[in-house]
Amino acid sequence: MSRRPLIAVNWKMHLSLSEAAALAEAISLSVATAACETVIAPPFTSISVVAEALRGSSVMLGAQNCCWAEQGAFTGEISPLMLKELGCSMVIVGHSERRQLFHEDNRMVNRRLQGAMAAGLVPVLCIGETLEQRQTDQTTAVLKEQLLECLSAVSVTDPSRLIIAYEPVWAIGTGQTASSQQAQDAHSFIRGILADMFEKTIATEIRILYGGSVKSDNVSALMAQADIDGALVGGAGLHIDSFAGIIHLV
Ligand code: PEP
Repeated sequence: MSRRPLIAVNWKMHLSLSEAAALAEAISLSVATAACETVIAPPFTSISVVAEALRGSSVMLGAQNCCWAEQGAFTGEISPLMLKELGCSMVIVGHSERRQLFHEDNRMVNRRLQGAMAAGLVPVLCIGETLEQRQTDQTTAVLKEQLLECLSAVSVTDPSRLIIAYEPVWAIGTGQTASSQQAQDAHSFIRGILADMFEKTIATEIRILYGGSVKSDNVSALMAQADIDGALVGGAGLHIDSFAGIIHLV
């Protein structure tokens, strides 16, 4: 098994251009002594300055969403080819904020994911249950449905071309992390579904990140779990001290 730990940071709609450049530079210096892979997903408008700040660094560049189409009349959308041109190698799709605030459903996430893959971007597919779904024992059914629908008609022959992020909605930005066992149970379930959808060897190699209030004081326990291969970090990725604390514990 060779699932190299990956820490992805989603800056959401935060940071000015100069703040983004300064934080990217600080992260790239800090990562030089870390064992994990790291990817930064800035707001679209900061991608260029972050790319410049990361020049020569091992830190990868990502984005927070992409359109399914390469070009055309899609006001307000960003093409995966435009992201490639800026130097992005990954793109988050299906983040719960896109689903909840902008009504993206599994079908749309599937289209975005396929567009990303066709352009050669690695999608980081976010899935996860709401608090109500967890409390009514629907977690596994929701995760299964999200995987089946978001990965419909997707073929994966190279496990490095797809990343899954398990992000329980109730843990995002709330300070309430899933316990290591809750996260491991979900990750193991997800890997089982992936094994049914793709070849078992592929499912064994696909990285599954945990996201939801990851901080330096909980990342070690999460990363000690057999099926947790990294983290998707929000709030703690907006400051170099908290982010460096995470990447140096992985
Ligand atoms: C996220 O938005 O994907 C996330 C995990 O945020 P936070 O770390 O702030 O919970």
